[in-house]
Amino acid sequence: MATSNSALHQKLSDIAQLKSALAVLMYDREVFMPSKGSAPRADMLSFLAGELHERVVAPDFIALVGDAKAAADAKRLPADESAIARELFRDVSRERKLPVEFVRELTHVTSEAYHVWMGARKKKDFSAYAPTLERIVALKRREAELVGYKKTPYDALLDVYEPYATTGEIDAVLTDLRNFLVPFLAKIRASRAGVSAAPIAGNYDVEKQKAFCALIVRQIGFDFEAGRLDVSAHPFSTGFHPRDVRITTRYNPKEVGESISGAIHEAGHAMYEQGLPAERFGTPLGEAVSLGIHESQSRMWENMVGRSLPFWTYFYPLLQKEFPAPLVAVSLDVFYRAMNVVRPSLIRVEADEVTYNLHVILRFEIERALIEGSLGVADLPRIWNAKMKELLGVDVPDDGVGVLQDVHWSGGAIGYFPTYSLGNLYSAQFFAAARRDLPDMDAQMARGEFGGLLGWLREKIHVHGRFYSAQELVQRATGEKLNIRHYADYISKKYGAIYELP
Ligand code: MG
Repeated sequence: MATSNSALHQKLSDIAQLKSALAVLMYDREVFMPSKGSAPRADMLSFLAGELHERVVAPDFIALVGDAKAAADAKRLPADESAIARELFRDVSRERKLPVEFVRELTHVTSEAYHVWMGARKKKDFSAYAPTLERIVALKRREAELVGYKKTPYDALLDVYEPYATTGEIDAVLTDLRNFLVPFLAKIRASRAGVSAAPIAGNYDVEKQKAFCALIVRQIGFDFEAGRLDVSAHPFSTGFHPRDVRITTRYNPKEVGESISGAIHEAGHAMYEQGLPAERFGTPLGEAVSLGIHESQSRMWENMVGRSLPFWTYFYPLLQKEFPAPLVAVSLDVFYRAMNVVRPSLIRVEADEVTYNLHVILRFEIERALIEGSLGVADLPRIWNAKMKELLGVDVPDDGVGVLQDVHWSGGAIGYFPTYSLGNLYSAQFFAAARRDLPDMDAQMARGEFGGLLGWLREKIHVHGRFYSAQELVQRATGEKLNIRHYADYISKKYGAIYELP
């Protein structure tokens, strides 16, 4: 028993080293690599990905996972080893249901699809992308059939990103969310409060912005001895180990909010990674539990902290000192409102807190219908544009800023979008629970102290890895299952005040 368990852990360690090496190479590609490095880097990545795949599907590894699962089922393992076995068995079982020819075809189609999608988006021509997307949808429907599901094929795809969640549960919460957001947005649009970003328009020196972003993420708890902050075209975060987590943001010399929001969002992801138990590295107990929970960390720090009045009570005087030209005559209150403008727009990644989830709900409804077969690819632009009008009141001028805007489907990531909204919903529920446990939290933040909140997140979420499911984690941390009331309360209170709603 002990022997086969240590053999399993040795194999997990080997797999983890390869995964981290791949992550370093991919990070370098996005952040530092010169353009001529592209082809040799693709060779490096595909060689290492092959090595990794061989180890993950090796019969001796699968047998060791099977042994561990049997020992866990027979209650012969301690709780932590039992959770490791449960989660590994879950991962391996899914992989084994996918024949190698299927995996090769999906990899091949999605890697070509990236370039097809980019070209179509540039030309604003959906018809150039439609045949490729048809193939991807067909393959993902096949994947769902191979993996198996209870109610809808979408369940099988969602499970990759939000394990143990069902389409029915997601549909119920997103329907409640839609029913709250659509009328709430109508009230904001009718408001005459005159909330605007115009007062903070100006020039913001990029080097100064870099220093300010670093100052903020250090102060909220990102550990620079276990991470770096750099620059990339699209902000992202990646972890090689809890002791080495990388984040990026981007800088706009005409605007200061974009770099700060990007840096705080990615720092939220990164602090989760830095808070995973290093001694569990390579096992499921050293991994994030789900994309929804991961996004809850980034969105909480970005929005509930980083766009709040307590946060800016501390940081705004410092920001004014760095950027006196645009900000010296702008009051804290005007700045706070400018950072929280609500404006329905075309692009999800640029959306404000109130409209963001409507973009996600639209994608969830569409991709679910695609997978269930009630919507065909050819009808996508028409349905997309109709839903943009219905949910956001926005007219879509062309497919480039409409149905072609996101990379996800081209990569085969169908079932991913709802995790963005789950992240927002979880974040509000966690934040409400943290505030209940830490009654002084707002005052702490106004003094520039964020250790109370970070400590709460570490204890309730980060240290557990995948020991609990996301659903159990939420229940344990907050005392109830996922409930949109916390998000609706947060949005109503914050934006009701900003927009002076009756
Ligand atoms: Mg994120």
